[in-house]
Amino acid sequence: MNANPQVKTADAGQVPHYVPAGNECELFETAWKRQLPLLLKGPTGCGKTRFVSHMAERLELPLSTVSCHDDLTAADLTGRFLLKGGETVWVDGPLTRSVRGGGICYLDEIVEARKDVAVVIHPLTDDRRILPLERTGEVLEAPSEFMLVVSYNPGYQNILKTLKPSTKQRFIAIEFDFLPREQEVAIVAAESGLAERHVVPLVTLAHRLRALKGHDLEEGVSTRLLVYCASLIESGLKPRDAIRAALIEPLTDDPDVRAALFEVANAVV
Ligand code: ADP
Repeated sequence: MNANPQVKTADAGQVPHYVPAGNECELFETAWKRQLPLLLKGPTGCGKTRFVSHMAERLELPLSTVSCHDDLTAADLTGRFLLKGGETVWVDGPLTRSVRGGGICYLDEIVEARKDVAVVIHPLTDDRRILPLERTGEVLEAPSEFMLVVSYNPGYQNILKTLKPSTKQRFIAIEFDFLPREQEVAIVAAESGLAERHVVPLVTLAHRLRALKGHDLEEGVSTRLLVYCASLIESGLKPRDAIRAALIEPLTDDPDVRAALFEVANAVV
């Protein structure tokens, strides 16, 4: 059984393209040197995961990314006993592997995970830097090469899906947001291959749709969706169809809201 199908381990090689918004690269590097855990806050699809992959490659550290979800338990991160060839053997989870081997463990959307996850990360996020494994009786000391990075989206309206202050206050935090217009145009053009002049109206539309966040929409258009939309257009899809598929349908299931979004799109593109 694969206990952690959602875990991705980064390929070594090229440094993933990342355009900084400020001094976040320097902050990351300093936190890494001082062995401080890092919290990335910001809306979905604004570059947090790309930033972590970029920094891992730059610092030549192995990266293990876990996309947290509401069934993810502490045991999914630390490990469990599994039956293998008639024997029960302990199998490390991704957090334990990162602590044993050194490297970055990135828990994406940590608020989605079960409450017991906070219990395992707390002793790793203070000066003890330990990971007690109750089931094996081990207490692992994190090597200097280990760094814990977590992310969450404070924009969700759900009060239950917020990070407790007792957890939040254990991290250095960096706030992420969508990049200024010109930088976002350049990123979307670079990622999709679509010429900047065709990307500009899409970014203008994204700004209009983001302004509706909190009124009719829970979330605005992400940079990720803009890249998808531009990629569809670059591959020959009509802009209207690409906008529908990438910028409107993913945002809402409500027919009235959808119709209103189409009106906004028609006025811009
Ligand atoms: P998040 O982790 O915040 O949900 P991602 O890191 O997956 O978002 O970003 C989504 C996509 O947006 C990336 O795959 C990349 O194409 C693009 N992107 C967003 N911000 C940047 C940035 N600053 N530099 C380069 N690409 C970016």
